[in-house]
Amino acid sequence: MLADPIANLVLGRRGVSNPYLITGPALISFSGGRTSAYMLKQILAAHGGTLPDDVHVCFANTGKEREETLRFVHECATRWGIQVHWLEFVTDLRSVGAAGRFEEVGLNSASRNGEPFDRLIERKKSIPSTVTGRWCTDFLKVRALHDFMATQGFELGQYTEVIGIRADEADRAKRLQESERNVASDIALPLISAGVRKADVLAFWKAQPFDLLLPRGYGNCDHCPFVGSKNRIARARFDPAGTLWWAEHEKAKVFSFGRTFSMVDILGMAASEPQLLPDDNADAECGTWCTGEAS
Ligand code: SF4
Repeated sequence: MLADPIANLVLGRRGVSNPYLITGPALISFSGGRTSAYMLKQILAAHGGTLPDDVHVCFANTGKEREETLRFVHECATRWGIQVHWLEFVTDLRSVGAAGRFEEVGLNSASRNGEPFDRLIERKKSIPSTVTGRWCTDFLKVRALHDFMATQGFELGQYTEVIGIRADEADRAKRLQESERNVASDIALPLISAGVRKADVLAFWKAQPFDLLLPRGYGNCDHCPFVGSKNRIARARFDPAGTLWWAEHEKAKVFSFGRTFSMVDILGMAASEPQLLPDDNADAECGTWCTGEAS
């Protein structure tokens, strides 16, 4: 047993020397961002271009992912010849079993109007917020992915969760390690083990024949309230139409997603404040883990 808890997370219980050689059963969380796509490509290369049958790649769609993200996930899968399971939250009811709590979709059938997120809000009779908590990640992403693995015959702790956190995001790795829910998990962070930093990921994509067609900082849910105000304003300016879904939920619940600013406040600031660009914190990918920090 390694004494350093981060080292334990980096190597996983198996302690393999090539961090991209993943021993199944395993779940690779693909958030639809550049970093997790980079990790996926490295894993694929380490396995000679074909993943083992019990290594599953999953993408959880909240319904508020941007179209560019959906197309990027599809393009990675088709160009690289891998199967990516697109999962959408249906319910959190225990009575329906793991297979009933999510549905599998594809590029054409994927929700694009927040339907999985709507279902969660309806179940909870509440909206996630910087006051009430970031439980959207947990239900829409983490649990959907775990339920998928349960349908493959693996309960939590019986498979490796492969997560795309880079070496320059060590604080995220630390929070991951400190999260109570991860005590029973076998987590691998191959990018940290390989020393991969943001510049490496960006250089990789610069050399590829395709890329995520989004500027840095605009990925995952289009107007995620868990990024900073500056980033929320930049996103509202980038895509004002996408704010409507969020504003309507705030109006219905008479409550704001953001502690300080509602979606309407953010829209007003986008119209009146100088042009702002999102900072790097908005680039972190929302995936198969939940530690409560900005996505
Ligand atoms: S991107 Fe933001 S709003 Fe969407 S699931 Fe993640 S934390 Fe929630």
